[in-house]
Amino acid sequence: MSINTDPQIPGVPDAAWIEKLANELFSALPDETPKPVLSPHLEDHPRMEKMLNLIVPGFSKAPAAPEGFQLSDPQTSLADPHFADGKVPPSATGVGVSPAGAVRSYTPSPQDIKPPVTAPAHPFEVNESVFKPYQFDHRQEIELKHILAAISNFEKLPQIPANAFHGADPAYYFLQNTPQPITQSPGVSGFNVDLIRQDFPVFNERVNGKPLIWLDNAATTQKPRQVIDRVSYFYEHENSNIHRAAHELAARATDAYEGAREKVRQFLNARSVNEIVFVRGTTEAINLVAKTWGDQNLVAGDEIILSHLEHHANIVPWKQLADKKGLKIRVIPVDNDGQVILAEYASLLSHRTKLVSFTQVSNALGTITPARQMIEMAHAAGAKVLLDGAQSVSHLRSDVTGLNCDWFVFSGHKVFGPTGIGVLYGKEDLLNATQPWQGGGNMIVDVTFEHIQYHKAPSRFEAGTGNIADAVGLGAAIDYVSKIGIDAINQYEHYLLEYASSRMQVIPGLRLIGTAKEKASVLSFVFEGFRTEEVGSALNREGIAVRSGHHCAQPILRRFGQETTVRPSLAFYNTTSEIDVLVDTLYRLRRGRN
Ligand code: PMP
Repeated sequence: MSINTDPQIPGVPDAAWIEKLANELFSALPDETPKPVLSPHLEDHPRMEKMLNLIVPGFSKAPAAPEGFQLSDPQTSLADPHFADGKVPPSATGVGVSPAGAVRSYTPSPQDIKPPVTAPAHPFEVNESVFKPYQFDHRQEIELKHILAAISNFEKLPQIPANAFHGADPAYYFLQNTPQPITQSPGVSGFNVDLIRQDFPVFNERVNGKPLIWLDNAATTQKPRQVIDRVSYFYEHENSNIHRAAHELAARATDAYEGAREKVRQFLNARSVNEIVFVRGTTEAINLVAKTWGDQNLVAGDEIILSHLEHHANIVPWKQLADKKGLKIRVIPVDNDGQVILAEYASLLSHRTKLVSFTQVSNALGTITPARQMIEMAHAAGAKVLLDGAQSVSHLRSDVTGLNCDWFVFSGHKVFGPTGIGVLYGKEDLLNATQPWQGGGNMIVDVTFEHIQYHKAPSRFEAGTGNIADAVGLGAAIDYVSKIGIDAINQYEHYLLEYASSRMQVIPGLRLIGTAKEKASVLSFVFEGFRTEEVGSALNREGIAVRSGHHCAQPILRRFGQETTVRPSLAFYNTTSEIDVLVDTLYRLRRGRN
């Protein structure tokens, strides 16, 4: 349950009010100096247990930490570094000693955590009149009211259930930092957004005093603790250059790096690890193909087909190549919903087409392209296909063998992994038939001043020391996603997207850009009477991160008569209550303008 921090909404409890209530309570107790409540750990307040025992004999607190663990010290580990009195705890500034150095912090196990307050069975049951996150009874508020009532009128006190504190939000009992989801994933067993969110430390952040709501997932995704820890572990226990030394750490680092390559292979359903090249990201992968295969195989008069949906990363390298070699670029148009027009695509294909390069999911509109069919059509014309998976890997199952694309590219940071690492998948024969791009160490079998013999793929495309630790981190991200299950993710996000679309499209003056039948994650829009930066700033004031701008996809935005849009984009850790905050903020913005 989120505590509403906006005192403007009538009848809605806000954080300051509950804090005031708690302070009143403690001041009312006789014979002790009142101690102001500034900690989220209300149950840890020295007076709390004493008082609860007075009122409800035998009352017990939240589950004790297992041996060897200790509940975080509220004075030093507040999740909000600017909490209450504006003091920044030493660990949050990066210069102090983290309490975690002395004792491991305790996160209650899933059994300790009660599921969120009753949710509707399906998000579509949610509508403004019957269901708002802040219309739930706040457990904290009810308990405090009971206790206050007990002080003034002891007889009338209803029993507080003995387990009232069990199942409390594990880390921040009193003021929660993260909005709780309204819903689990309907129809997806084992998918629990509440638990998933606890893996992402960044969701303890507050922005402008509000809980962070991260709706900028198309730009980059947040990282789970498992990824952060894996990268740290690499540097603490395995750090070495790879492949080239006969010592223990070189073996550990090589195993970790090559292990990550195998994880990527499985994730993409590639046939061999030799088909997986680590690069810096999607942009580098596309440039690599353009500057190797493209440069080596295309000649004047050849044609490259791109879709109108493409990110600049899938336009600029081909345009540069076309200008250099006299190639022609042809563009598949889209309809008014942002869907590629297959009939037009068919008419562009000819014996001159040597390459079709397109995105599986549009970063600006969210359109899912019919990739399998488009690939088949390209192959029938004798063209090779590069599929840009930057926006699809975190939402859809990737199956390069099933899709039969010649290259598939993605960035680690879009799939909950680190920045600076990405993947070029290429069919093995094709990679081995392509001459390397960058030269240097690691990619050669033998070098003389007269002759150089290159490795086969993937090493031939991995010159120099790569981003070893982040490749390992990407492996951990893939493990994480695979554990949740990409199909469960897909299904949950589908509900989120439909929920958000249905609420947003009825906001007066709001126009969704990109309304394809098959869509993922993205909700681009323009808002009549507002510049997109204005909307972005207004949302930021509420702690909501969205992208406003051209999203590096100017051609497709101009197709819709826009230079910029506001672009909320979803991931599996988002919730319908976060979407409610977005929608409510947009309504408030609208009301302020009318
Ligand atoms: N293609 C698409 C569809 C994208 O969304 C992006 C990133 N926004 C890219 C390519 C480029 O990715 P990167 O910046 O990680 O190289």
